[in-house]
Amino acid sequence: MLDTICFDADDTLWESQAYFDAAELEIASLLADWATPETVDELLLQTARRNLPLYGFGVKSFVLTSLETIDEVTNGAAPPELARRVREIGKELLAHPVDLLPDVTDVVEQLAESHRTLIVTKGDNAHQRRKIAASGLEHVVDGYEILVDKTASSYREFLHRRDLVARSTLMIGNSLASDVLPPLDLGMHAVHLPHTSIWAHEDMASDDPRIRTIASITELPDHVRSVTDQPPSSD
Ligand SMILES: [Mg+2]
Repeated sequence: MLDTICFDADDTLWESQAYFDAAELEIASLLADWATPETVDELLLQTARRNLPLYGFGVKSFVLTSLETIDEVTNGAAPPELARRVREIGKELLAHPVDLLPDVTDVVEQLAESHRTLIVTKGDNAHQRRKIAASGLEHVVDGYEILVDKTASSYREFLHRRDLVARSTLMIGNSLASDVLPPLDLGMHAVHLPHTSIWAHEDMASDDPRIRTIASITELPDHVRSVTDQPPSSD
Protein backbone atom coordinates (compact mmCIF):
# COMPACT_ATOMS: atom_id res chain seq x y z
CA MET A 1 0.00 0.00 0.00
CA LEU A 2 1.30 3.39 -0.93
CA ASP A 3 -0.27 6.63 0.22
CA THR A 4 2.41 9.30 -0.08
CA ILE A 5 4.67 10.27 -2.97
CA CYS A 6 7.65 12.54 -2.34
CA PHE A 7 9.33 14.35 -5.22
CA ASP A 8 12.89 15.60 -5.12
CA ALA A 9 12.99 19.06 -6.70
CA ASP A 10 16.33 20.07 -8.29
CA ASP A 11 16.91 18.08 -11.50
CA THR A 12 13.79 15.99 -10.84
CA LEU A 13 11.05 18.61 -11.19
CA TRP A 14 13.15 21.43 -12.63
CA GLU A 15 16.57 22.15 -14.13
CA SER A 16 19.30 23.04 -11.64
CA GLN A 17 22.68 21.38 -12.21
CA ALA A 18 23.01 22.81 -15.72
CA TYR A 19 23.21 26.31 -14.20
CA PHE A 20 25.92 25.20 -11.77
CA ASP A 21 27.81 23.45 -14.61
CA ALA A 22 27.80 26.71 -16.60
CA ALA A 23 28.95 28.65 -13.52
CA GLU A 24 31.83 26.24 -12.92
CA LEU A 25 32.85 26.48 -16.56
CA GLU A 26 32.99 30.26 -16.29
CA ILE A 27 34.99 30.13 -13.04
CA ALA A 28 37.46 27.75 -14.70
CA SER A 29 37.81 30.16 -17.62
CA LEU A 30 38.39 33.08 -15.21
CA LEU A 31 41.24 31.06 -13.70
CA ALA A 32 42.71 29.90 -17.03
CA ASP A 33 45.94 31.84 -16.42
CA TRP A 34 46.55 29.94 -13.19
CA ALA A 35 45.26 26.39 -13.61
CA THR A 36 43.69 23.91 -16.03
CA PRO A 37 39.88 23.52 -15.98
CA GLU A 38 40.35 19.98 -14.55
CA THR A 39 42.39 21.32 -11.63
CA VAL A 40 39.83 24.04 -10.93
CA ASP A 41 36.97 21.50 -11.05
CA GLU A 42 38.77 19.16 -8.68
CA LEU A 43 39.61 21.98 -6.24
CA LEU A 44 36.03 23.29 -6.31
CA LEU A 45 34.80 19.80 -5.45
CA GLN A 46 37.34 19.24 -2.66
CA THR A 47 36.63 22.66 -1.16
CA ALA A 48 32.86 22.15 -1.40
CA ARG A 49 33.14 18.79 0.38
CA ARG A 50 35.28 20.31 3.13
CA ASN A 51 32.80 23.17 3.58
CA LEU A 52 29.56 21.16 3.46
CA PRO A 53 29.35 20.52 7.21
CA LEU A 54 29.76 24.27 7.83
CA TYR A 55 27.86 25.83 4.92
CA GLY A 56 25.38 23.16 3.83
CA PHE A 57 24.14 22.97 0.24
CA GLY A 58 23.10 25.70 -2.17
CA VAL A 59 24.21 28.77 -4.08
CA LYS A 60 25.57 30.78 -1.15
CA SER A 61 27.82 27.86 -0.23
CA PHE A 62 28.87 27.59 -3.87
CA VAL A 63 29.89 31.28 -3.90
CA LEU A 64 31.93 31.00 -0.70
CA THR A 65 33.55 27.79 -1.94
CA SER A 66 34.38 29.40 -5.30
CA LEU A 67 35.96 32.45 -3.62
CA GLU A 68 38.06 30.14 -1.43
CA THR A 69 39.11 28.12 -4.49
CA ILE A 70 40.11 31.27 -6.39
CA ASP A 71 42.24 32.33 -3.45
CA GLU A 72 43.90 28.92 -3.36
CA VAL A 73 44.50 28.65 -7.11
CA THR A 74 45.96 32.17 -7.40
CA ASN A 75 47.74 32.03 -4.08
CA GLY A 76 45.83 35.12 -2.96
CA ALA A 77 46.85 37.13 -6.04
CA ALA A 78 43.52 37.13 -7.89
CA PRO A 79 42.45 40.54 -9.23
CA PRO A 80 39.37 41.88 -7.38
CA GLU A 81 37.25 41.62 -10.55
CA LEU A 82 37.30 37.83 -10.20
CA ALA A 83 35.67 37.87 -6.79
CA ARG A 84 33.18 40.47 -7.99
CA ARG A 85 32.24 38.28 -10.97
CA VAL A 86 31.83 35.22 -8.74
CA ARG A 87 29.42 37.14 -6.49
CA GLU A 88 27.48 38.16 -9.61
CA ILE A 89 27.41 34.54 -10.81
CA GLY A 90 25.93 33.63 -7.42
CA LYS A 91 23.18 36.23 -7.79
CA GLU A 92 22.46 34.97 -11.31
CA LEU A 93 22.20 31.41 -9.99
CA LEU A 94 19.76 32.56 -7.32
CA ALA A 95 17.66 34.37 -9.92
CA HIS A 96 17.62 31.75 -12.67
CA PRO A 97 14.17 30.87 -13.97
CA VAL A 98 12.46 27.72 -12.73
CA ASP A 99 12.28 25.55 -15.85
CA LEU A 100 9.99 22.62 -15.16
CA LEU A 101 11.22 19.45 -16.85
CA PRO A 102 8.98 17.84 -19.49
CA ASP A 103 5.70 16.23 -18.30
CA VAL A 104 6.33 17.17 -14.65
CA THR A 105 3.16 19.21 -14.16
CA ASP A 106 0.93 16.56 -15.75
CA VAL A 107 2.39 13.71 -13.71
CA VAL A 108 2.38 15.59 -10.40
CA GLU A 109 -1.21 16.75 -10.98
CA GLN A 110 -2.28 13.22 -11.89
CA LEU A 111 -0.69 11.62 -8.82
CA ALA A 112 -1.95 14.40 -6.54
CA GLU A 113 -5.50 13.24 -7.30
CA SER A 114 -4.90 9.78 -5.84
CA HIS A 115 -2.06 10.20 -3.32
CA ARG A 116 -0.68 12.63 -0.79
CA THR A 117 2.15 14.43 -2.63
CA LEU A 118 5.07 16.32 -1.12
CA ILE A 119 8.14 18.08 -2.51
CA VAL A 120 11.17 17.00 -0.50
CA THR A 121 14.26 19.00 -1.31
CA LYS A 122 17.41 20.18 0.43
CA GLY A 123 19.66 23.20 0.42
CA ASP A 124 19.22 26.90 0.92
CA ASN A 125 15.84 27.50 2.53
CA ALA A 126 15.04 30.91 0.99
CA HIS A 127 16.12 29.84 -2.50
CA GLN A 128 14.23 26.54 -2.43
CA ARG A 129 11.07 28.27 -1.16
CA ARG A 130 11.27 30.80 -4.00
CA LYS A 131 11.73 28.01 -6.55
CA ILE A 132 8.79 26.03 -5.18
CA ALA A 133 6.61 29.16 -5.37
CA ALA A 134 7.80 29.95 -8.91
CA SER A 135 7.24 26.36 -10.08
CA GLY A 136 3.47 26.65 -9.86
CA LEU A 137 3.44 23.28 -8.06
CA GLU A 138 3.10 24.67 -4.54
CA HIS A 139 -0.70 24.46 -4.70
CA VAL A 140 -0.75 21.16 -6.59
CA VAL A 141 1.14 19.20 -3.92
CA ASP A 142 0.06 18.84 -0.30
CA GLY A 143 3.20 20.41 1.09
CA TYR A 144 6.97 20.62 0.97
CA GLU A 145 9.99 19.96 3.15
CA ILE A 146 13.41 21.58 2.83
CA LEU A 147 15.85 19.27 4.59
CA VAL A 148 19.36 20.31 5.65
CA ASP A 149 20.66 17.09 4.13
CA LYS A 150 19.14 13.91 2.72
CA THR A 151 20.58 11.22 4.95
CA ALA A 152 18.74 8.28 6.46
CA SER A 153 18.44 10.17 9.74
CA SER A 154 17.04 13.31 8.10
CA TYR A 155 14.48 11.17 6.23
CA ARG A 156 13.61 9.40 9.49
CA GLU A 157 12.96 12.76 11.19
CA PHE A 158 10.92 13.88 8.20
CA LEU A 159 8.72 10.75 8.30
CA HIS A 160 8.22 11.21 12.03
CA ARG A 161 7.40 14.94 11.69
CA ARG A 162 4.81 14.22 8.98
CA ASP A 163 3.48 11.10 10.69
CA LEU A 164 4.28 9.00 7.61
CA VAL A 165 4.85 5.25 7.48
CA ALA A 166 8.06 4.33 5.62
CA ARG A 167 6.60 1.39 3.69
CA SER A 168 3.65 3.51 2.51
CA THR A 169 5.87 6.34 1.26
CA LEU A 170 7.72 6.61 -2.03
CA MET A 171 10.57 8.98 -2.85
CA ILE A 172 11.55 9.80 -6.43
CA GLY A 173 14.66 11.73 -7.43
CA ASN A 174 17.69 12.04 -9.66
CA SER A 175 20.33 11.26 -7.02
CA LEU A 176 21.02 7.70 -5.87
CA ALA A 177 23.00 9.04 -2.93
CA SER A 178 20.32 11.50 -1.75
CA ASP A 179 16.96 10.37 -3.06
CA VAL A 180 17.14 6.61 -3.41
CA LEU A 181 19.54 4.72 -1.14
CA PRO A 182 18.74 6.46 2.20
CA PRO A 183 14.95 6.03 1.71
CA LEU A 184 15.43 2.35 0.72
CA ASP A 185 17.49 1.80 3.86
CA LEU A 186 14.56 3.07 5.93
CA GLY A 187 12.10 0.72 4.21
CA MET A 188 10.56 3.40 1.98
CA HIS A 189 9.94 2.84 -1.71
CA ALA A 190 12.27 4.76 -3.99
CA VAL A 191 12.54 5.43 -7.70
CA HIS A 192 15.62 6.72 -9.50
CA LEU A 193 15.00 9.17 -12.33
CA PRO A 194 18.46 10.07 -13.70
CA HIS A 195 18.99 13.55 -15.15
CA THR A 196 21.43 14.59 -17.87
CA SER A 197 23.94 16.10 -15.44
CA ILE A 198 24.65 15.44 -11.76
CA TRP A 199 26.92 17.23 -9.28
CA ALA A 200 30.19 15.27 -8.92
CA HIS A 201 29.66 15.12 -5.14
CA GLU A 202 26.42 13.16 -5.65
CA ASP A 203 27.57 11.09 -8.61
CA MET A 204 27.77 7.38 -7.89
CA ALA A 205 26.96 4.04 -9.45
CA SER A 206 25.22 1.20 -7.66
CA ASP A 207 24.07 -2.26 -8.66
CA ASP A 208 21.86 -2.49 -5.58
CA PRO A 209 19.02 -4.76 -6.77
CA ARG A 210 16.46 -2.73 -4.78
CA ILE A 211 16.94 0.27 -7.10
CA ARG A 212 14.15 0.88 -9.56
CA THR A 213 15.14 3.23 -12.41
CA ILE A 214 12.77 4.93 -14.82
CA ALA A 215 13.78 6.88 -17.92
CA SER A 216 10.94 9.40 -17.82
CA ILE A 217 8.67 10.80 -15.13
CA THR A 218 5.77 9.64 -17.32
CA GLU A 219 6.57 6.07 -16.18
CA LEU A 220 5.92 7.00 -12.56
CA PRO A 221 2.10 6.62 -12.44
CA ASP A 222 2.31 3.01 -13.70
CA HIS A 223 5.02 2.22 -11.17
CA VAL A 224 2.99 3.83 -8.38
CA ARG A 225 -0.04 1.80 -9.43
CA SER A 226 1.93 -1.46 -9.33
CA VAL A 227 3.30 -0.67 -5.86
CA THR A 228 -0.09 0.52 -4.58
CA ASP A 229 -1.72 -2.72 -5.74
CA GLN A 230 0.91 -4.96 -4.12
CA PRO A 231 -0.43 -7.02 -1.25
CA PRO A 232 1.19 -6.08 2.08
CA SER A 233 4.46 -7.94 2.58
CA SER A 234 4.65 -10.42 5.41
CA ASP A 235 7.87 -9.03 6.95
MG1 LIG B 1 17.93 16.48 -7.22
